[in-house]
Amino acid sequence: VGVALWLCSNLLSSREGRAIRCLKGGRTMAAAMGVNVPLVKLKVFVLASVLAAVSGWMYVHFQRFVNPTPFGLNYGIEYLFMTVLGGAGFLPGAILGSGIITALREWLVEYLPALVGQNGNYETVVLAVLIIFIPHRAPDGLWPLLVKFLKIKETSKFSEANVSTDLLLERKNANHSSGESLLVLEHVSKRFGGLLAVNDVSFKVKAGEILGLIGPNGAGKSTTFNLLSGVNPASTGKVTFLGQDITNLQSYQVAKLGMSRTFQHVQLLPNLTVLENVAIGAYLRCDAGYLKSMLHLERDEESRIISESIRMLKRVGLDKHAYTLAGNLSLGDQRILEIARALCSDPVLLLLDEPAAGLRLKEKEELAKLLQQLRKEGMGVLLVEHDMDFVMGLVDRIVVMEFGEKIAEGLPEEIQNNPVVLEAYLGSAD
Ligand code: ADP
Ligand code: MG
Repeated sequence: VGVALWLCSNLLSSREGRAIRCLKGGRTMAAAMGVNVPLVKLKVFVLASVLAAVSGWMYVHFQRFVNPTPFGLNYGIEYLFMTVLGGAGFLPGAILGSGIITALREWLVEYLPALVGQNGNYETVVLAVLIIFIPHRAPDGLWPLLVKFLKIKETSKFSEANVSTDLLLERKNANHSSGESLLVLEHVSKRFGGLLAVNDVSFKVKAGEILGLIGPNGAGKSTTFNLLSGVNPASTGKVTFLGQDITNLQSYQVAKLGMSRTFQHVQLLPNLTVLENVAIGAYLRCDAGYLKSMLHLERDEESRIISESIRMLKRVGLDKHAYTLAGNLSLGDQRILEIARALCSDPVLLLLDEPAAGLRLKEKEELAKLLQQLRKEGMGVLLVEHDMDFVMGLVDRIVVMEFGEKIAEGLPEEIQNNPVVLEAYLGSAD
């Protein structure tokens, strides 16, 4: 048990471990960072099976005889309940859950019949009540409650003292020369049942430019983002990225080519530190696998990832919060965290879905400065935004959408004076 815990705890705090943690509540995000989610699920399943097999093997040696009972359905349910009771997703939860159930059963088998006055399997009744009661009252299991009750401080592996900031992580993508077409959309449409959310939209994003995508609520901007980044493939039309047809690629495959994104509705792991959340972005820039991580032989690579993550946090001005839990940040800071995470993947093209929503004026100015710096470095940026002042002063070109259609495209001045846009968008906004 000790060895299994050590191996698993090493794994969970590694590059692959962060991907595993994303399986609970952050799958779209993980895929956007280049994680092949179904493959990770399969690997976790195999790992769990290997551990179960080892314990079965030991059990046989211990008992000196084997029959199928301990491997039957009833026990399967009991093992599952141990996990749920202790807390799925927490290593100490495994010990807690199995400890409680095993002790409780022994105790009930001994004392319940005496209490009732006749023989019978009364423990089953008590356990059944628990199975109904616990998931209802403590959906995350008992471990998180215990942590809260005993005020156990869960310390992060990382702190200012043991994190170096000058280790370099290899770059993943070459710079592209300014003006080169990165992303090309040709007559792209997306249909949800009877609703045509994106209708025959075409535009280009070049290296070294910021393209603003604006339009009223429900215009189809986020849907366009999702079909570009492989979350929801286009129904018809063609999307090309760096000369390659990506129309039907999966999210993680698109990420591999050098596209990174943030989400309109922030997607992060609230129980991990800001630093670890940003480190998820570096997934594709390293390759330590399960075995290496479990034996903790990826220290060198891991230090580089952490070093790079700190640098990205400095870049967006969030380094003072590096060791706080991401869930404790303000919404504005969580958006900035997402940008740091996206940058950590060293993207060629950055997609930002309403990054300035919830930011204060000063923070917006900082964000604008950062985006201008990225543009200078040759990155392409596609920016969906509501805040017109923010967009107009920053972007090179604008595409305007309404009811899923592109109604205008041009320089900010042209858009500001375009009667169709004024009518459709600005007119209704004022
Ligand atoms: P925007 O980001 O411009 O505000 P969206 O792209 O989010 O707009 O939405 C465009 C339209 O598509 C809306 O009418 C929305 O209800 C619809 N829509 C978005 N996603 C889905 C989905 N997964 N299923 C069905 N309809 C959707
Ligand atoms: Mg949107």
